[in-house]
Amino acid sequence: MIEIDQLRKQYRAPDGKVVEVLKGISLTVPPASITAVVGPSGAGKSTLAKCISLLEQPSSGSIRVNGEDLSRLSGEALRRERRAIGTVFQSSALLQRKTAWENVALPLEWLGVVPAEIKRHVGQLLESVGLNDKADYYPAQLSGGQRQRVGIARALALKPSVLLADEATSGLDPQATSSILTLLKQLRDQFGLSIILITHEMDVVRRAADALAEIRDGQLLQQGSLSELLAQPDSRLGQQLFPLQPLDAAGDILLQLTYGDRPLATDWISQISQHYQLQIDLLAAHVEQVGERLAGRMRIAVRFTRRPVSQPALIQHLYQLGINAQAIEVRAALQEAG
Ligand code: ADP
Repeated sequence: MIEIDQLRKQYRAPDGKVVEVLKGISLTVPPASITAVVGPSGAGKSTLAKCISLLEQPSSGSIRVNGEDLSRLSGEALRRERRAIGTVFQSSALLQRKTAWENVALPLEWLGVVPAEIKRHVGQLLESVGLNDKADYYPAQLSGGQRQRVGIARALALKPSVLLADEATSGLDPQATSSILTLLKQLRDQFGLSIILITHEMDVVRRAADALAEIRDGQLLQQGSLSELLAQPDSRLGQQLFPLQPLDAAGDILLQLTYGDRPLATDWISQISQHYQLQIDLLAAHVEQVGERLAGRMRIAVRFTRRPVSQPALIQHLYQLGINAQAIEVRAALQEAG
């Protein structure tokens, strides 16, 4: 569990001015969950990563791991507590002259762990990342995805409770990206890790994150669980992940629908259209697996074939079927219809 509270970071620019790069970031990542941190270049993501990995000391605010504030530590105490946080970077800087096995063993050797224990633990770690058959390979003999797996195994060597992955899949091909994301989800569950995934790829968010924090200009723009954020009808995240183009259409009511935060009646179209004698035209839709859930975002045009239906009644009924609806356009005369 990592709790970041009101984190601020200031730098002194070359001209002597103080620039505030992080302006009070608060973020909690519970055990066994993945939070993606996204934001445009210059937003402050790397600075946040450096503060979390304790390479930089925040100007103010706290970073608590399992209840202990690590942001104020220095010297020996910092070195000791830093073990609670494992980090993986874009290109895991593996030592080229050491095998996969030796790279993973390094942090344990530095710590003075006895050889028999190192042997046992490294074997387990390589197994966790699916690389026990590559133990004796050198980095140059491994693919990008495999090197990243070694980096992950090394990050886990000191049994951290938090794993920081900073652009860990950038530069990997889609297949390797996909297998690294699957691995991170496995490790999340196997070790109950709190994982912070810093990324600029929305596809990574969609496939691996349980929660999202978007930062811009050093501040949080939106934050929450993916299913909650997606299920908000005017969700920014929804529009980012599943963009819907505006479309003109004939209909009595145009609705924007989102679902994914509650159980869904998958036959909602036939239920609604039979109940109210409606015709429903699907104008645009995205339905995808997000994490473990099915999430959808769509626009529909509703046409009444017998008698008008009130918009609140329709929205209420959709809500009961697991769908959040918002009217985008209603023909004026129908608004009061019962
Ligand atoms: P991101 O990783 O989201 O691209 P960064 O955290 O690298 O963003 O940078 C955010 C802002 O902080 C940038 O405007 C950058 O110029 C500034 N910054 C980062 N490090 C320093 C530093 N050591 N001194 C002064 N400004 C810095």
